[in-house]
Amino acid sequence: MEATLIRKLPKVELHLHLDTSVPVETTRKFLALQGKPVPEPLEDFCVAPAKCINLVDYLNRIDTALDALQSPEAIEETAYLLTKALADNNHIYAEVRYAPNLNIRNGNSVQEILDASLRGFEQGRKDFCVEVGTILCTLRHFTPEFNSLVSELAIKNRDKIVGFDLAGDENQPGIIQKALFDKIHAAGIPVTIHAAEAWGPERLKEALDVLHAVRIGHGVRLEEDPELMKRVIAEQIPLEMCPTSNVQTNATHSFATHPINRYLKAGVAVTVNTDAYTTTPSDLTGEYEVLVKTFDWGFKEIRQTQETAIRNLFVSEGKRKEILAEFQRRWNNVMEEPVISGI
Ligand SMILES: [Zn+2]
Repeated sequence: MEATLIRKLPKVELHLHLDTSVPVETTRKFLALQGKPVPEPLEDFCVAPAKCINLVDYLNRIDTALDALQSPEAIEETAYLLTKALADNNHIYAEVRYAPNLNIRNGNSVQEILDASLRGFEQGRKDFCVEVGTILCTLRHFTPEFNSLVSELAIKNRDKIVGFDLAGDENQPGIIQKALFDKIHAAGIPVTIHAAEAWGPERLKEALDVLHAVRIGHGVRLEEDPELMKRVIAEQIPLEMCPTSNVQTNATHSFATHPINRYLKAGVAVTVNTDAYTTTPSDLTGEYEVLVKTFDWGFKEIRQTQETAIRNLFVSEGKRKEILAEFQRRWNNVMEEPVISGI
């Protein structure tokens, strides 16, 4: 299946970070506006190599973009440009996440940062017809006190965001953040957590049993615990897998060793995502292209993983029906094209 055809297919995406999706030239622009030096070649400071040492090495590649993302203007423009990149992949809807306490070094409040991203997404919705839901992130390696800036923001802005996440260095157990996640859960905000990416399946179990997660970011190492895998299948807990990023962070050695195809065949609720549009130089078309090439995926697997994603979006049931209907309408349009239908 050609990339041009994959690109035409309608899509949703669950797992994508704003601060790993700053275009290189946007980073340049907002570094210069702050009078900060621009390291060269800038691309090497913004795009992680195909193989990093580990997750922490990958995360360090975000620092330059974060230096640039220290104003509401930079956040708004990045959010707007990301909706355009999503539209270029025929997205209907995406959930985009970030930790706004990483963007307040110049004295802005997390509320000002959140409002700026929402303005960017809203303008993108009007201009490119892609809707974005916001997931707010806390980070494992931050203290609960610093993370509480974001959890309080989430609760105060319950109607403007769709979910809550724990990301960052997985060496740190999540239980330290339990009190925050109890409050988020009590406020009715759905939780997704990065787990079993850079650490074993015990982090995934902790996410489900201690931190109220209903979706899991990555979950690459789930199969190391067969009992837990049985449970994840039985409860249809969705995994937000990001193949290119998972290879970059060494969560798995290569595309060929990536467990996504094994998981799909075993009945895991697998979804396909990018994680990033810049740090990982990918888009959702590219992720599916890799899966088509590596595992011989076709329309069946693409549709199945997309419908799993739609079933697990953090949206109201009414909105879910709307997105599913739009997905089916656009899917059928592509299938009716003469080159595919054989007319
Ligand atoms: Zn992620």
